[in-house]
Amino acid sequence: MHEMAICENIRVLIEEQARTQNFSRVERVCLEIGALSGVEVEALRFGFDVVMRGGVAAGARLDIVETAGTAWCLPCAVTVTIGRRYDPCPRCGSHQLQVTGGEEMKIRELEVM
Ligand SMILES: [Zn+2]
Repeated sequence: MHEMAICENIRVLIEEQARTQNFSRVERVCLEIGALSGVEVEALRFGFDVVMRGGVAAGARLDIVETAGTAWCLPCAVTVTIGRRYDPCPRCGSHQLQVTGGEEMKIRELEVM
């Protein structure tokens, strides 16, 4: 499962930070997930608990902030919000969109002890 691999990456990042910033427990992890990132939030939540077991973030609370997908519409010459990657422009129905945001996934915040 794709989301398990993402959780493994998150764990590696957290363990690295724990070493460099000298903390031993993570209470809360806040992730920012773009609407166009292709990440399934429910699957990620499930994988998170399993993957974090035995590490510094074991039992940590997971907060997920979903950010909107945005794209530049060529015919309208404005930035519009889209829910999925191949959605048409909500203003004119055109598919001449260039995705400008909402593809990223990152750790926004770690609450540590
Ligand atoms: Zn448009």
